[in-house]
Amino acid sequence: MRRSEHIAQLQQTARWDMVIIGGGATGLGAALDAAARGYKTLLVERFDFAQGTSSRSTKLIHGGVRYLEQGNINLVKGALRERFFFLKNAPELTRTVPFILPVYQVWKLIYFWIGLKLYDLLSGKLSVGSTRLLSARRVAELMPSVETQGLRGGVMYYDGQFDDSGMCIALAHTAATYGATVLNYVEAQSFLYSSEGKISGLRLLDRHTGQRYEVSAGAVINATGVFADVLMGADNPEHKPVVKPSRGTHLVVDTSFFEGNHALLIPRTTDGRVLFAVPWMGKVVIGTTDVPVEEATAEPLAGEEEVDFILQNFNQYCRTQLRRSEVLSVFAGLRPLVRMQDLRSTAHLLRDHALIVSESSLITITGGKWTTYRKMAQDAVNKAAAIAALPFKKCPTRRIAVSRPAKEPSPEYALRLHPAYPYTIADVRHAIRHEMALTVEDVLARRLRLQFLDRAAAQEVEERVREELRGVSV
Ligand SMILES: Cc1cc2nc3c(=O)[nH]c(=O)nc-3n(C[C@H](O)[C@H](O)[C@H](O)COP(=O)(O)OP(=O)(O)OC[C@H]3O[C@@H](n4cnc5c(N)ncnc54)[C@H](O)[C@@H]3O)c2cc1C
Repeated sequence: MRRSEHIAQLQQTARWDMVIIGGGATGLGAALDAAARGYKTLLVERFDFAQGTSSRSTKLIHGGVRYLEQGNINLVKGALRERFFFLKNAPELTRTVPFILPVYQVWKLIYFWIGLKLYDLLSGKLSVGSTRLLSARRVAELMPSVETQGLRGGVMYYDGQFDDSGMCIALAHTAATYGATVLNYVEAQSFLYSSEGKISGLRLLDRHTGQRYEVSAGAVINATGVFADVLMGADNPEHKPVVKPSRGTHLVVDTSFFEGNHALLIPRTTDGRVLFAVPWMGKVVIGTTDVPVEEATAEPLAGEEEVDFILQNFNQYCRTQLRRSEVLSVFAGLRPLVRMQDLRSTAHLLRDHALIVSESSLITITGGKWTTYRKMAQDAVNKAAAIAALPFKKCPTRRIAVSRPAKEPSPEYALRLHPAYPYTIADVRHAIRHEMALTVEDVLARRLRLQFLDRAAAQEVEERVREELRGVSV
């Protein structure tokens, strides 16, 4: 996946069957789907792939135990089905994780066991492990850091976990192998229209080189997550917002603060949400929060009160007390929550995502979650194919394996980038040569995950990565 080759494809193509705006889970999923159906597909992302919400998730592939408590059975069932395809199609980027919910009151043990048993039963034949009751002693054995005072037992259940930005790179690469042109650092700036007022193309800006392009398209998909309203507003000045962004923050800590291989589910935080502490890439990710945000920004910052909230709720379940100074990294992302109430009459609402077709035929797909990206992509591509009057092709993505570009054996793999982490100089070069990393942050945050895992360690190696970026042509 070389950027120069994809730029050449952009320059040489007179007309695209569909152009997708946004290189997160939804857009890249749509690019793979469309290309695999044989449609001539272009995807543009104005920053790096996954730079938005899709690298900042809790990294769970799940049906959503919280939705179950809200009685949203169909939503959970659909997501559990998607969980199965996700795990099956991306085995190198995913794994199944056992979760434990420690319980301190006997009646709650029964309540949560029934709930989580139902959660498993809803997945039917696609279950990834059966829910079971644990004694207090067993919970303490499996989760040595958990608070044991008053512990009555626990419930163990299973869900999926993955590397979110890695999955975006894998989707981009796999889409490219099916013939899609995928470009990071290319911004969709404005729309082109036919004489009937329908969208017929886009003006693009390559933010890496400053070059501008005009492209012609049969259909345009707006998969810009929390920025969906910006494009819809550019298309129609009378547009009323459909997305309500909500910020979620996570902390990353060393495994010594939460030992073992099991993830923790805290069923009810002080604000009535769930909180997870999940082992991930040799660290533990703890989160998340839910703070409504007036306006979407590209680099959302965690509030100090969110960090305190997470520490306070996590510490209630732990024997030792985690302090702010022991946190290795903090990251925040914006959920693209759809204003379902306002949309009922104007949009086709599908589970917790929305597919909206504007007067101009702009197709907007937003909301949902990482777990359901494949289904969202399928819905958007079906609609785009109809609007562009393309021959109908069945969605093939339930059976398409998704993977990152293969690494070749190289002695550079012996050269560590940082003594405390397994990443090597060869990994950095691979990210630049084959995964379109253009900046230090592209490499350290989204190809390697060092910046998410340990901010100080990432800072220590920035200069080394910069040197590599100077030396490799893309
Ligand atoms: C805190 C948090 C935790 C979460 N945890 C989970 C979880 O554990 N499991 C789960 O299933 N889901 C989870 N989610 C939900 C999931 O992360 C999102 O639903 C998903 O990542 C949204 O993907 P997207 O592609 O729609 O949006 P994004 O990833 O935001 O992608 C949109 C892209 O569009 C680009 N863009 C914007 N304007 C333009 C333009 N003009 N031209 C070109 N590109 C443009 C942006 O730069 C961005 O990269 C979580 C979300 C949050 C916030």
